[in-house]
Amino acid sequence: MSSVEEFRTEARAWLRAHLTGEFAGLRGRGGPGREHEAFAERLAWERHMAAAGWTCIGWPREYGGRGATLAQQVAFHEEYALAEAPARVGHIGEQLLGPTLIAFGTPAQRARFLPKIVSVEELWCQGYSEPDAGSDLANVRTRAERDGGDGDGGGDWVVTGQKIWTSLAHESDWCFVVARTEPGSVRHAGLSYLLVPLDQPGVEIRPITQLTGTSEFNEVFFDGARTDADNIVGAPGDGWRIAMATLGFERGVSTLGQQVGFRRELTAVIELAKANGAAADPLIRDRIARAWTGLETIRCNALRMLDGVAAGAPGPEASIGKIFWATWHRELGELAMDVCGADGMLAAGEPYDLTGWQRLFLFSRSDTIYAGSNEIQRNVIAERVLGLPKEARA
Ligand SMILES: Cc1cc2nc3c(=O)[nH]c(=O)nc-3n(C[C@H](O)[C@H](O)[C@H](O)COP(=O)(O)OP(=O)(O)OC[C@H]3O[C@@H](n4cnc5c(N)ncnc54)[C@H](O)[C@@H]3O)c2cc1C
Repeated sequence: MSSVEEFRTEARAWLRAHLTGEFAGLRGRGGPGREHEAFAERLAWERHMAAAGWTCIGWPREYGGRGATLAQQVAFHEEYALAEAPARVGHIGEQLLGPTLIAFGTPAQRARFLPKIVSVEELWCQGYSEPDAGSDLANVRTRAERDGGDGDGGGDWVVTGQKIWTSLAHESDWCFVVARTEPGSVRHAGLSYLLVPLDQPGVEIRPITQLTGTSEFNEVFFDGARTDADNIVGAPGDGWRIAMATLGFERGVSTLGQQVGFRRELTAVIELAKANGAAADPLIRDRIARAWTGLETIRCNALRMLDGVAAGAPGPEASIGKIFWATWHRELGELAMDVCGADGMLAAGEPYDLTGWQRLFLFSRSDTIYAGSNEIQRNVIAERVLGLPKEARA
C-alpha cells in the first residue's frame, strides 16, 4: 500500500471512530452561509482533532504539523468531506496565517503564534478589504504608526481605520491587518502586515447581516488599537509582498475536499429532482447533465492547479479554476431552486429560517465575488496568460 493510501486509511478510520458520541450530531454542520451552526461544538471538535494531531497536517513537524505530502493532504481533505465532518473553524489560521508565518515570520513569531493555531486555542481573521479597497486592495487606507520604544525596538503599533467583510471576526482572537505605515505612501508601497489582537478597547466588531439572514462577516473598526511593535510580519513597507503570498496559500489543497462537498450537493439535487418529479423535465435533465460534466472539469482544473502548488505557488491556472468552480456553484444554487419549484419560495420557518436549498442558492451568489471576483480573475488571465495590455489605471 502506498503511503498515501495508508494515510487515507488512517484518516478514514480516525474520523469514523471519533465522529461519534457527542460529535455525531456535527455531521454536515457549518460552512459558507451556515457558519453560525454549532460553532462552539465545532470548535470543541477541532480541538479534539488537534489533540490527536489532525490539524495543520501539511505543516512541517517542527511547527507542530505532520509534514504530510501534498497527496496525503488531498487524501485527508477528501476523507474529511466524505465523512461529512463539520466545516472547520480554524481554517484561516491554519491555511492562511500559519503558512505565511512559516515562510516569512521571525522565530519568535512562529514560537508565539503557531502552537496556538495547531491547538485551535486562537482563531484568526483576515483584515484586508476596506470600503474603498476590495478588488483594488492597494487602496488600503487603514494606517498604523509606531508609538514608544526607541530606535532599537520596543513600543507599539497604533492602528486606526476600517476593515469590512471580515469573515468570522466576531469569533476570532486575532486579525492579520494590511495597514499603511509610511505616511503619504500610495498603492503597493508603504504597506505593512500586522498581527493585531481583537480583544481590546480600540477594536469594535459589527456583524453584517447577509442575504441568508445570518452574519458571518463583519465591519471591524480600529480606533487607536495597539499591537506590540514586534507583531509585524516582514519589514515595514513590505506588507504587499507578504499579503500576496498569503493569498497564494488561500487556494491550496483544501479545494479537492471542496469538490467532495460539491458532489454531495449535486447528488442531493438529483435525488430531489427524482423524488419530486422535476427530473422528468428535459430542461432540468439537461442542466443536471451539464452540472455533472462541469464537476469533472472542476476536478481537472484543481489537479492542474495543484501541480502549481507543488511547484511552489499556484499560477494563473488558479484563476481559471476559481472562475469555473465559482460560476458552477452559483448555477448549482439556481438549479436547486428550479428543482424545488414553487416550494423553493417558502421559508422553512418563522421569521426567516431558510431551507438548505435556499441557503445554497443565496450564499453561492458570493462565490463569484470573494477570493477575487470573476472579473478580476479574467483580468489576471488576460494579462498574465494571454499577454493582453494591462488595464489602464487612473
Ligand atoms: C463571503 C465573503 C467573505 C469575505 N471574507 C473576507 C475576509 O475575511 N477578509 C477580507 O479582507 N475580505 C473578505 N471579503 C471581501 C472580498 O475580498 C471582496 O468582496 C472582494 O475583493 C471584492 O471587493 P469589493 O466587495 O470591494 O467589490 P469591488 O472591488 O468594489 O467590485 C465591485 C464590482 O466591480 C468589479 N470590478 C472591480 N474592479 C474591476 C476591474 N479592475 N475590472 C473589472 N471589474 C472590476 C468587481 O468584479 C465587482 O463585480 C469577503 C467577501 C465575501 C463575499
